[in-house]
Amino acid sequence: MIKFWKRRAEKGIITKNRVLEKQLEQIKKEIKQSVNKNFAGSLAIRMVDSGSCNACEAECNALANSYYDLERLGIYFVASPRHADVLLLSGVMTFNMTPHVKDAYEQIPAPKWVISLGDCPLMQAPFEASYAINAPAEKHLLIAHHIHGCPPSPLEIMQGLLEFLKKIETI
Ligand code: SF4
Repeated sequence: MIKFWKRRAEKGIITKNRVLEKQLEQIKKEIKQSVNKNFAGSLAIRMVDSGSCNACEAECNALANSYYDLERLGIYFVASPRHADVLLLSGVMTFNMTPHVKDAYEQIPAPKWVISLGDCPLMQAPFEASYAINAPAEKHLLIAHHIHGCPPSPLEIMQGLLEFLKKIETI
């Protein structure tokens, strides 16, 4: 036991990824600054799944845990599009969900933006021949920013949100 604590004191927590933590700290700092500056400290996101496998949503759930802690940076997921600034769209666009996605977008007060999440929303092949698919999402909505990945990791989602924030600062 003494040997264990001695080694722990010498090496610290060896499972810690210091590179990732440093990167995350920087991203958090920049997101917070940008949200404070451009959204008075509060950016609300309404997420809509237009036909996803739910892995993108699972990664978004991780953003609420105490490690990523997105809410502490002023970014909130909200239940109603009327309280949102951004529509976060995941999944391949299905015929059944198309009117609901458009409806959610219509209900967001201006100024508003659409961010597509994961590779599905911009994907057409191999679904173009399917009666159930109405892809890509760009056909129906103006996408302000796209976050790549299948699924994107929580860090990649945060990186994507930061890229979006930087993009709208320059518009
Ligand atoms: S991008 Fe990948 S993880 Fe996300 S909904 Fe599509 S298939 Fe699932």
